[in-house]
Amino acid sequence: MSTTQMELELPGFGPSLPDLASYDWILANISGGKDSMAMLYELVQHARAAGVLDRIVCVHADLGSAEWEGTKELAAEHAAAFGLRFEVVARKGGDLIDRIEERGMFPDADNRWCTSDFKRNPVRTLITRLVQTSRDAGHTGRVRILNVMGIRAEESPKRRKLLAFSHEGSWTCPCEECVPKRAKAEQYKARKQKVPKGVGPGWGASNTLRHVDVWYPVHAWSAMDVWAAVEVSGLRVHPAYLAGMPRLSCKFCVLASKSALVLSAQLNPEPAARLARIEKKIGHRFRNDLSMAEIIAEADRSPRVEAVACWQG
Ligand code: SF4
Repeated sequence: MSTTQMELELPGFGPSLPDLASYDWILANISGGKDSMAMLYELVQHARAAGVLDRIVCVHADLGSAEWEGTKELAAEHAAAFGLRFEVVARKGGDLIDRIEERGMFPDADNRWCTSDFKRNPVRTLITRLVQTSRDAGHTGRVRILNVMGIRAEESPKRRKLLAFSHEGSWTCPCEECVPKRAKAEQYKARKQKVPKGVGPGWGASNTLRHVDVWYPVHAWSAMDVWAAVEVSGLRVHPAYLAGMPRLSCKFCVLASKSALVLSAQLNPEPAARLARIEKKIGHRFRNDLSMAEIIAEADRSPRVEAVACWQG
């Protein structure tokens, strides 16, 4: 497709396109948001060309009442538009808002337990199920899985450092990339030293039964590239964008800009009030620099925010 790729100084792209036919399953993580719509459209084109469309499984990590209304249904609609299998995964127990109340704390940029508990870990349970399906069908050897996400470099400095394609290594992965990394880390452990960051094989989803790689097909894309792909895809966009939100995500993401949070509070007064009540009850601010009560106060005294261009800052 003709997109203007961003000129970014990225750490490297790896293979521009993974060999899709070499994977048993291709897992498309779809949130219902614009980046995952563009990712899905791009993935479908490549998978169709490689003759492996039937290996794609779309997965939506359900965050419950933290999400915008209709998000799960929209993600299902996006998968159905291409005739793809659709799975919903969720953490056992209450949803993200319940969990904030239970833990007595909000997540933050350094401690994003919301992502690990409500997205990464539930998706891994699906990976386990897919591996079992392959084994039940007589697959021998490790099952190969490509985990595909709509992450973009432009979104944050942390995401800019990611590779568009990499192996999800782990301590139990027997591949030629992980084994030497593990050996090096073991040397530190033997000396009773802390293993430096980036030295070990990582805590990815691979293990003795599965080889998991991760691919971000739209990593180098600009927001304009994404919107162009969304338009070509013909997929329906969530009304939150039409109301001026720059991203879908949670209604009140701890990483969002103040203006995005204020607009969201204007659009979602009840959920905002619920979070403010929780904030008061647990005695922990939504964010160090910004409380939910302050967001609501700003939403009440400001004219309706038309549109927010930027997520961060
Ligand atoms: S959108 Fe924000 S608050 Fe919600 S799970 Fe992601 S990082 Fe956490």
